[in-house]
Amino acid sequence: MTDPGVSATTDPSATNDLEATLEGLLSVESFDPPAGFTRRRPVDADRAAAAADPQAFWAAAARELLTWDKPFTQVLDDTNPPFYTWFADGELNLSANCLDRHVEAGRGERVAFHWRGEEGEHRDVTYADLLAETQRLANGLLSLGVRAGDVVGIFLPMIPEVAAAMLACARIGAVHNVVFGGFAPSAVRERMEVSDAKVLITVDGARRKGRRSPVKAAVDVELGDLPALEHIVVVRGPGENAAEVPMTAGRDVWYDELLAAADPVCPAVALPAEHPLFILYSSGSTAKPKGILHTTAGYLLGATYTLRTVFDLDPETDVYWCSADVGWITGHSYIVYGPLSNGVTSVMFEGAPDYPDHDIWWRIIEEYRVTVFYTAPTAIRTCIKWGAQYPARHDLSSLRVLGTVGEPINPKAWLWYHLVIGGGRCPIVDTWWQTETGSVLISPLAGVTPTKPGSATRPLPGISPALLDEDGRPVTEGTGILVITQPWPSMLRTLYKDDKRFVETYFSRFGPRTYVVGDAARLDADGYFWIIGRIDDVINVSGHRLSTAEVESAIVAHEAVAEAAVVAQADEQTGQAIVAFVTLAGERVGDSAVEAELREHVARRIGKLARPRRIVWADDLPKTRSGKIMRRLLRDVAEGRELGDVTTLRDPAVMSALAAKVAAGP
Ligand code: ATP
Ligand code: MG
Repeated sequence: MTDPGVSATTDPSATNDLEATLEGLLSVESFDPPAGFTRRRPVDADRAAAAADPQAFWAAAARELLTWDKPFTQVLDDTNPPFYTWFADGELNLSANCLDRHVEAGRGERVAFHWRGEEGEHRDVTYADLLAETQRLANGLLSLGVRAGDVVGIFLPMIPEVAAAMLACARIGAVHNVVFGGFAPSAVRERMEVSDAKVLITVDGARRKGRRSPVKAAVDVELGDLPALEHIVVVRGPGENAAEVPMTAGRDVWYDELLAAADPVCPAVALPAEHPLFILYSSGSTAKPKGILHTTAGYLLGATYTLRTVFDLDPETDVYWCSADVGWITGHSYIVYGPLSNGVTSVMFEGAPDYPDHDIWWRIIEEYRVTVFYTAPTAIRTCIKWGAQYPARHDLSSLRVLGTVGEPINPKAWLWYHLVIGGGRCPIVDTWWQTETGSVLISPLAGVTPTKPGSATRPLPGISPALLDEDGRPVTEGTGILVITQPWPSMLRTLYKDDKRFVETYFSRFGPRTYVVGDAARLDADGYFWIIGRIDDVINVSGHRLSTAEVESAIVAHEAVAEAAVVAQADEQTGQAIVAFVTLAGERVGDSAVEAELREHVARRIGKLARPRRIVWADDLPKTRSGKIMRRLLRDVAEGRELGDVTTLRDPAVMSALAAKVAAGP
């Protein structure tokens, strides 16, 4: 273990020094928590308690961290696996846990969200403000006929109203179904139709990097004829809207008018712990998105406990910012529920990372003195491509802890994040989890766990991951299929209206008590977990199983490369051969010289077997809206098949460009 204690070079002319420093550190396997970092929340007692009796540990955490209207006496009910329940006879209200209890404790004037609009607008929303807005909206929804158990769709940009909308649903027991604001209204239609949404909360128009587009008008066209949809609530979004907003009398209502007419007080009703809280679709990286159902108490416990424990969060002093969108699980758990339940002050940012310029994130960190920053590896790689001169413009010394989520982080991106953004001072928590898991399951704990770039390290207290081989035998060191062997409170309860797909997807391979994650992983001698890719993405060359994550990270470690995705192509000789899709950084163009260098580079780092058979130069890679590479589509292209489900693709043009390139031959 080493702590190189290197601090970031902030001189943009020193790009070559930075490259050399990164290159030098790539061989360092493990980093101790930075020497100057002092952890505030001890975790040894949690670890001991969870190891001794996981259910007792979760029960104690649920009593300590959540406020109950009716205390529970049952903890886990596992008599009907895989349909588990937690704390089932207890009652609570989630919005009361996120709002009322802080206001009642005298913290109403604390800022919940420092909202920052993309044109530079600022708005501070306190806990008292958010409680007031939530109560009025809850009453407004009741006046529109929404009742506990009804589904409310939410299709909004990153504005404080999105949090109020989610909390208002939770307050009255309505089930929210948030759809990422960047999706096309057709994706919204499908999700509203499947869930029989009664009300949709949306916005008049959207803006993105200075461009405006009407939203409500498009929603009308796509969703106007849905029989279950009784009302559409329309928020006046920030900024001027160019387009006319069509409003249908009797059906459509302005958000502000609904609030103005509503009673200001809406008591939080006590709801059963297992009351459904939300439906949220997974990202669609591996298949058609799945409608995941989470319930109230277990989910909130997971979000609350993991945020404070993983990030060592102190609500009194920290300013926290998660750059995700609220339309993903990360936004649900770590922009809305986890931060509010803990009573922390967060930043909420409406815009894109490169508007008005490529330094906007770092400007925001400097302005709000952000202490904890949580983002995705794909975003970090993009920032690397833009260059260290952008963060260098700003004072990032307030940062204390950095996090990532979404995919394995390649060591080079980890090191850049560590040095350039964290100044070598900040522990990095590489948090592994899924829409299904509700909250983080495997992650370093800031300042406690020695980190190895690329590994999510060890399970959190109370979580029991394991690796199995194809026949279900435990793997203690080496690679295998990642499973979770014990239920945990924030796990999904089912797929919405599809118990059959729920059982088939997660619990058919090794029985109803073993949750099959869908990822393949490696366990090293220190008991660290390395996510090596999706089960279906693992590549088998001449009988050797190669990890997509490992091959990609070797390619990305080459200085000419910005991003890479590898997939398998059927091959007569070797069973499968590797095809690499590579985006270059800087000045280099994809020619046979770079190709030879890359193949040699991979051979040196991993071995000759891992050398790509074919390299396709790509201007961009197909990604989901949450920034994950869709390897399944690349596989389809590499093997000349028709493309699978593309509804969650960010930019469909990327795929047609690649398909044309591949068809044109090497
Ligand atoms: P779908 O399930 O629809 O195919 P998805 O799996 O991408 O989409 P999410 O629930 O958003 O949908 O993503 C969870 C997956 O993201 C995990 O199964 C894992 O593959 C990957 N992932 C998330 N965090 C990490 C991490 N820290 N390290 C490695 N992989 C991660
Ligand atoms: Mg998944």
